[in-house]
Amino acid sequence: MRRDRSRYFSLRLSAEILKRDNFTCIYCGKHATLIDHIIPWELGGKTIKDNGVSCCKSCNKLKENDTLGNYLTKGMKYIARLKGIDQTC
Ligand SMILES: [Zn+2]
Repeated sequence: MRRDRSRYFSLRLSAEILKRDNFTCIYCGKHATLIDHIIPWELGGKTIKDNGVSCCKSCNKLKENDTLGNYLTKGMKYIARLKGIDQTC
C-alpha cells in the first residue's frame, strides 16, 4: 500500500493525530473529529502525520472557502511548535 499517495488518512493515523492534538481543533480549539491536510492533497501535500492536524467540522468546511494561506500558516506554525522548531507562537 502506497500510503504517501493516499488522499485519506487511515483510521490508525487519524487516531494518532487526534490523540497527539488532544482531540482539539488547531484552528478554533473546539472538539476535533476530522483530520485536515496542512498542505492540501491537491497541492501535493502528503497524507502523513506531519502534514495532518486535528480539525473540527466547521473549520474543515471553512478552509474550503477561506483564504488558504491563513490556514496554511496556522497549520505550519502548529507543526513547527510541535517539533520544537518555532517557540514564538
Ligand atoms: Zn475548528
